[in-house]
Order: sequence, then structure tokens, then C-alpha cells
Amino acid sequence: MSFPPDTTRPIERAARDLVNSSYAIALTGAGISTESGIPDFRGPSGIWTKDPEAERRAFETYRKFLSDPRAYWEERLRSPSLLGDLSQVEPNPGHYALAELERMGILKCIITQNVDDLHRRAGSKRVLEYHGNAFRLRCVSCNARYEREEYDLQRLKDEGKLPPLCKRCGGVVKSDVVHFEEPIPTDVARQSLKEAWRCDVMLICGTSAVVYPFANLPRIARQRRVEKESRTESGLYVVEQVPATTIIEVNAEPTPLTREKVSDYLIQGKTGEILPAIVEEVKRLTRS
Ligand code: NAD
Repeated sequence: MSFPPDTTRPIERAARDLVNSSYAIALTGAGISTESGIPDFRGPSGIWTKDPEAERRAFETYRKFLSDPRAYWEERLRSPSLLGDLSQVEPNPGHYALAELERMGILKCIITQNVDDLHRRAGSKRVLEYHGNAFRLRCVSCNARYEREEYDLQRLKDEGKLPPLCKRCGGVVKSDVVHFEEPIPTDVARQSLKEAWRCDVMLICGTSAVVYPFANLPRIARQRRVEKESRTESGLYVVEQVPATTIIEVNAEPTPLTREKVSDYLIQGKTGEILPAIVEEVKRLTRS
């Protein structure tokens, strides 16, 4: 992983943007959890980077669920998770930094693509899990969420009673994790859109920003404009339409958002180092 020669100034800039914001939100991806030992998908040591065949198989999961929910569940109970045993991992300084920004009243919400539950375990309260949560199950009819322990899946399998059925509406229950080609649950999709449209700072951490519709959220934020009034040197009164949201990326490498100038600037490096440095700078600014 390479670092630009001087990351200090962008860190100051990000801290200032956050302190001056009235509604900052964070968007996070697999990159924020790599320092907890969970591999990402598309980084240099990512699961898909190393095993493209695994990506092809993952595309079939949702179709399998739709055509044969029982077979889908039997396979899930047989095979280990691609991400390893998520109950054994701990949040890292990047997760804790975002939780601290929320406690300071600066960060209003996190929209994460991660399914690992690490934001919540680090203390973040308002977390929208765009792609679900690996520790939960979800009814595909009414969106009710259940903790995994609320169903004895092994017993249901032994008794030939898979798939599990919703305790509220009787609908079919799947993992809460959103698979490829599966629609984003309507409640989370709607709330995330609202947040993206509302925020004036969007801090995007550890995502390659190529998975849609999540990658649309920064593009939606980019479209919002506000009026800015100013006077020219000759005293002319001018009203301009300017972007309403400052979009900051913290990532190990540039992404399409960087290249297409959807983000205002990129702080290149590890989220576990940069986010705590931003928090320190925010503290310094708010003390002085
Ligand atoms: P991705 O794998 O496509 O991209 C991760 C990005 O983060 C890459 O650009 C990589 O260079 C960067 N990165 C890696 N480590 C970093 C670090 N320490 N600091 C800064 N940047 C770092 O991930 P994605 O964009 O989130 O898309 C993958 C999809 O797979 C998501 O939808 C997610 O649901 C799922 N996923 C989740 C987990 C998890 O829950 N922890 C892990 C893998 C994949």
C-alpha cells in the first residue's frame, strides 16, 4: 500500500469540513474491515481478486434461493462463510474513529455495505446496513429481521422443515445478507437515499465504489445544489448554484469516484490510520 508524501494537509482539510458540517454521514465498504482481518473482495488481496471463480459462484446464490430455498439453506449450513468466522473478529481503530465522530455529534449516520456488524460493535448507533448483516435473517415478504439464534436451523434441517418461515407473516426467511442480483431491502434503500440527499459532508471509507446501487449514493449527493450569494470585486451581486455536499474519500487506492471527480478529494492510505488522525484533528479544532 503506498502513501502520498504528505497526508497531513488533507487530514486537516477533512477535519475542517467535518467540523463545519451540519449533517455529515459516512459510507463504508469492505476496506474499513480489512485491518480487522476480514478480506475485502476487490483489493489486491481480495477474495474475488484471488479467486474469480468464487465471484461467478456468488452470482448464482440468489437465483438458487428463488428457485429452491430449501437447497439454498442446506448449502449455507454445509459450507463455511467466504468471510470466515465473523464472530471472532474485533473492530479496528477506523470503526472506533467513526463511532467517536458520532458521539461528538458530527457524524449523523453510517451507511455500510459491510455485513460484519463491526460498526455497531465499535459503538456506532445509527447504522444502515445496505447489504444486510451476517448475524441476522430476514423475511423476504415483510422485511422482519431476526437474530440468527432465534431459529434452530440445524434442527429445522434435521426435521426436513427448511426453509425457516417468518414468525410474523409466515413468509420465507433468508439470510439478511443481500446477494448479487437481489434487490436492496426497501426500508434500508429508502432511508439511505434520504441520507444521501440530505447530507452536506459525505465521508466515504474503504470502498471500490463499483457495486450498484450503493455506488449511486455519492452520485446522488453530488447532484444536489445550493444557492451561494456573493459580490464580485466590482460590487456586482451574484447568486450561483454550487454543490451542496463535500465528498471525501479515504481509500487505499483511487476509485471511479476519484477519477470521475464525484469526490472532492481522496486521502490515500489505511482507514485505520487516517480516520483516527482526522478525529484527533477534529478534537484540536474544536478545543481551540
Ligand atoms: P471492495 O472489496 O470492492 O473494495 C474495497 C476497497 O477498499 C478497495 O478499493 C481497497 O483497495 C480498499 N481498501 C482495502 N483495505 C483498505 C484499508 N485498510 N484502508 C483503506 N482502503 C482499503 O469492497 P466494497 O466496495 O465494500 O464492495 C464489496 C462488497 O462485498 C460489499 O457489497 C460488501 O457487502 C461485501 N463484503 C463485505 C465484507 C465485510 O462485511 N467486512 C467483506 C468483503 C465483502
